[in-house]
Amino acid sequence: MSIEARFSLTYPTSASPAFALDVDLQLPAQGITALFGPSGSGKTSLLRCIAGLEKVKTGHLVVNGECWQKAGFFLPVHRRALGYVFQEASLFPHLTVQGNLDYGAIRSQRHQVTPVDQRNIVELLGIGHLLLRKPERLSGGERQRVAIARALLAVPKLLLMDEPLAALDFERKREILPYLERLRDELAIPVLYVSHAPDEVARLADHLVVMKDGRAVASGPLAEMLTRLDLPIRLGEDAGAILDATVGAMDADWHLARVDFASGSLWLADHGVAVGSPVRVRVLARDVSLAREQPGGSSIQNILPGRVDAIGHDEHPSATLVRVQVGQAMLLARLTRRSAAALGIAVGQTLWVQVKSVALLE
Ligand code: ADP
Ligand code: MG
Repeated sequence: MSIEARFSLTYPTSASPAFALDVDLQLPAQGITALFGPSGSGKTSLLRCIAGLEKVKTGHLVVNGECWQKAGFFLPVHRRALGYVFQEASLFPHLTVQGNLDYGAIRSQRHQVTPVDQRNIVELLGIGHLLLRKPERLSGGERQRVAIARALLAVPKLLLMDEPLAALDFERKREILPYLERLRDELAIPVLYVSHAPDEVARLADHLVVMKDGRAVASGPLAEMLTRLDLPIRLGEDAGAILDATVGAMDADWHLARVDFASGSLWLADHGVAVGSPVRVRVLARDVSLAREQPGGSSIQNILPGRVDAIGHDEHPSATLVRVQVGQAMLLARLTRRSAAALGIAVGQTLWVQVKSVALLE
């Protein structure tokens, strides 16, 4: 199952050059797909096309086998079973939270789908204690959670979120991110999530589309995209890999937790996450070094066997980025070109990967 979206759109403007959107995407119909790119790259325009708010003549859109648009056919906005969450929650000010949620539930009837149990959604977003309040008495983060709940109660087949956290301060953002993670992990609804915040993308996305000047310049699974050397997407201050892992063990004496990923284990500081919990960790290229022989007497605890998969340029001419395959996972290592030459780094070479530091994304 997938989402197929093909649109080309030019805004008629008096100012030239006019903006043109031109995308042809095949996206997974599950998990969170992040649309990432600078302001003005066409992210909102693409969501508007998908929602049917821009009536592009030549558009093509199939959501999980259901055609919403093709040549000669255009399913109107109100008949598309989708939820749309904007930067600013647009709740009805005269209604209580409960009233706003009921409105979402009414929309589900229009989509001719079985309504979902409101209690589950209320619980999922942690808004049970807010039901009798009016929006003006909610914090920004709470308003956004209510807006998301309302969108979900319409039982969408696709959830569109346009920078839903951009208007929130750091603390409110931190408060809402765990709810978005639960949404991703517990609901089967695909989400298109627009953001230009690297930390949100690293933490939430399963699939990443990079937008630039109205085009999707790259699209693929997050972990794969972040370790592509031809396309240095800097999520945050540095290049690095992301691994989906599970907390496998604790070392209480040393306050460490072991996370197990498909092809190995890494130790990191224990943040109180229970054994068995799924976690996402990030390993920055600058925290990874390579050795030809298995290091002994090193202060580094995390040492894994790997194989050089690719070698690429880094931003500064003194540095090189090396992609190393560890089992099925890919890590990036930043070396100086001098040490890469001294080690004789070559594609296919087997070596030892030392990981100095691992960050839990939460
Ligand atoms: P993003 O969401 O990535 O910041 P947008 O899709 O909002 O980008 O906008 C892409 C470009 O299209 C911008 O240059 C913007 O000014 C222009 N644009 C957006 N909507 C319209 C419109 N209705 N009419 C004319 N130009 C528009
Ligand atoms: Mg936008």
